[in-house]
Amino acid sequence: MRIALRPDTLRQIKAADYAGAFGRAIVIGDDGFDLPNAICETCRKDVYLAGERSLRSTHFKHFPGADCPSSSEVDKPYLALTPVNGDPAAGQRLRASFRANWQRHYRILSDLVPFLAPEEFIHLLQEATRLRTWEYRSFPEERIPYALILTADFPNWTSRKYRGNPMRELWLRFWYGTEVGAVEDLWIRQVDKIRLLRASYPSPSSKRGRPQPDQLLKLTPISVDLDFLTSPGFRPLRQWKIDTVERWFASRKNLF
Ligand SMILES: [Zn+2]
Repeated sequence: MRIALRPDTLRQIKAADYAGAFGRAIVIGDDGFDLPNAICETCRKDVYLAGERSLRSTHFKHFPGADCPSSSEVDKPYLALTPVNGDPAAGQRLRASFRANWQRHYRILSDLVPFLAPEEFIHLLQEATRLRTWEYRSFPEERIPYALILTADFPNWTSRKYRGNPMRELWLRFWYGTEVGAVEDLWIRQVDKIRLLRASYPSPSSKRGRPQPDQLLKLTPISVDLDFLTSPGFRPLRQWKIDTVERWFASRKNLF
C-alpha cells in the first residue's frame, strides 16, 4: 500500500514522503539507524517501508502473517456473505422494506461509491439475492448499504459515463477494520468504533486485471449514517435513475 499512519501523529502519510519525514541512512558508515515502522490504518499493525530504490515503487508492507484485509487477495470478497443459518421469512420482510425505501439506500451507496451507476446498484441487489444476504437474522435495514458494499469491487469502467467515458477515475474496494470478523458483527457483537474504509487503487490497464495490494493509493475512513431511513430533507433521485431501477424491480416482482 502507498499510504499508512505515521507512528508519531497517527496521521496518514504517503510512502513516497516517509523517508523524507523520518530520515534515511547516513551517506557513509552504519550508525544503526532504523526507519521507524508505520502503522496500517486497517489492522493497526506495524508496516515497514519497502521498494525505496525508486519513488514510484516505494510502498508499505506488512510483516509476514499479518493477515490484514488490505493485503488479502484482491479477488476475494472481504466477508463471506451467505448466512449459515438464514431466516427466509425475515429476508422477505427486509426486501419489502428495502423496496419501499430503495431511493434512500441508493443515496447512501452513491455517497460511498462516487458516480455509482444504477446498473451497479442493481448488481449489488442481485448479489445480495444470490448470496441470500437478506436472510441474516436480525439484520437491521439501516446496515444494508454498509454490508452490500463488501460484496463487490467497483472498477472505474462500470461507473456512470459522460459522453461514453467513465466518470469514476479509480478502482474502489471497501473493508472494515479487523474489529469486524463476520458480517453479523456489524450489528450483533458490540464492537466499539467499527471502522469502515474505502480503498482506492489505480485502474488496471486491462479489464481482466486486478489492482495489487501494494498499489493502494488512498484509504478513506467512511462515516456510517444509521439514521438515513428517517432523516428529513430527503431529495428524490433523478428520474432516469428511478426509471432504470424501477424497471428492474418490476421484472423481479416475486422477490421484491
Ligand atoms: Zn493491515
